[in-house]
Amino acid sequence: MVPRKLFLLLSVFLLALPVFGQQQTPPKPKPRVIVVGVNGMELDMIRPLLLKGQMPNLASVIERGAYGKLRTVSAPNCPRVYSTLFTSTYPEEHGVTGFIVGGITANTNMLKQEPVWSMLSKGGITVGMANVPATFPVMPVNGYMISGMLTRGKNCEDGVLCAPKLSEVMGGDAVYPKSMQPELLKKVGDFYIDCERMPAAGDLKGHETELIDKWLGKVQVIREQQTRLFDYLLTEHPTDFTFLAQSCEDRTGHWLYPITPFNVGYNPSVNNVRLDAFPNQYIAFDKVLGAILKHVDENTYLVIFSDHGIKPLREFEEKDPHAHMDHEKTTPVIAKHDFADGDDVPGSFFAMGPGIKHDLRLMGLAASVYDVSPTLLHIYGIEQPKHMRGRILTEIFESSGDKVAVKK
Ligand SMILES: [Zn+2]
Repeated sequence: MVPRKLFLLLSVFLLALPVFGQQQTPPKPKPRVIVVGVNGMELDMIRPLLLKGQMPNLASVIERGAYGKLRTVSAPNCPRVYSTLFTSTYPEEHGVTGFIVGGITANTNMLKQEPVWSMLSKGGITVGMANVPATFPVMPVNGYMISGMLTRGKNCEDGVLCAPKLSEVMGGDAVYPKSMQPELLKKVGDFYIDCERMPAAGDLKGHETELIDKWLGKVQVIREQQTRLFDYLLTEHPTDFTFLAQSCEDRTGHWLYPITPFNVGYNPSVNNVRLDAFPNQYIAFDKVLGAILKHVDENTYLVIFSDHGIKPLREFEEKDPHAHMDHEKTTPVIAKHDFADGDDVPGSFFAMGPGIKHDLRLMGLAASVYDVSPTLLHIYGIEQPKHMRGRILTEIFESSGDKVAVKK
């Protein structure tokens, strides 16, 4: 038995050790984490594609990691869920309760709780973010930030579900630090910051096939631009923590979900034209993932998540005063995700990296959007602030008792 006094003395000595150690050896490299957000990817939609081998990159992540459904919030939509994920607090607590808050398009000035990128920056972690929804105007980080969905600009004055080009941004900065903007314009090009706005019902009438194909073509152009941007950032501006997002998948689902005649809103002239348009978005996403995977080695954590799923409209929700809070506008919408019961439209979660279990399926809805930030902080050994509502997803790690695997 060690006498209590001696134990205390030993503790003080051991605590002092790292201070001396730091002077002699260079600091340990920080874990490298890449997070990829996909807007509206439900496991039920992608399972057939995985089985058919049409999403080989995501399949390889599943094989090497843990995955499952991700519980989301009630009436989920991007700004609401992403801000919940950033802060691990309830929408009423962080303030970004939807696309429009108090008559104004949701923006980062409304965020009342500290987001994870700010906590990481303070912890000395270098942070890089691109195209992440609800990050406009950009905030200072220990690295760079390029905004995503809800960026305002030319032909997209309200910032809601439209796509200004980088040079067309108005009403705030889309790039931090500002000096990075000319570099991006030169090296990557004048890319669209968000996905394309959906066409109006009036414009579609009589030109359905032509307009659907034109719109899908533009979506693919935007996806290719984003892939080039991600590749450039990961190559030229590597950071400890990188957060990238895509948002075209969800938008395609809202009006081109492969519904059948018994679904609400079925219109054969629109819904029979490109039956594969929605699943094809995930096949295209898988190629983006392939480009990102080139930057992932065995010491890199990769987290892929979707903020919510998407389902065809239901008659009874049409009478709900909160129905169609997301993408109605003028497009004939046939599927949505802002159902009062968020469990109807769960997101999805995939994680791989040092110390993360292989081929582990998370059953039910045990993991939630509240848990993502606490788990990311855990990887960096940063203590979860008490006000956070989520928990560390300890079950995905080989040894839950371990402080977390650190890059060697
Ligand atoms: Zn949506």
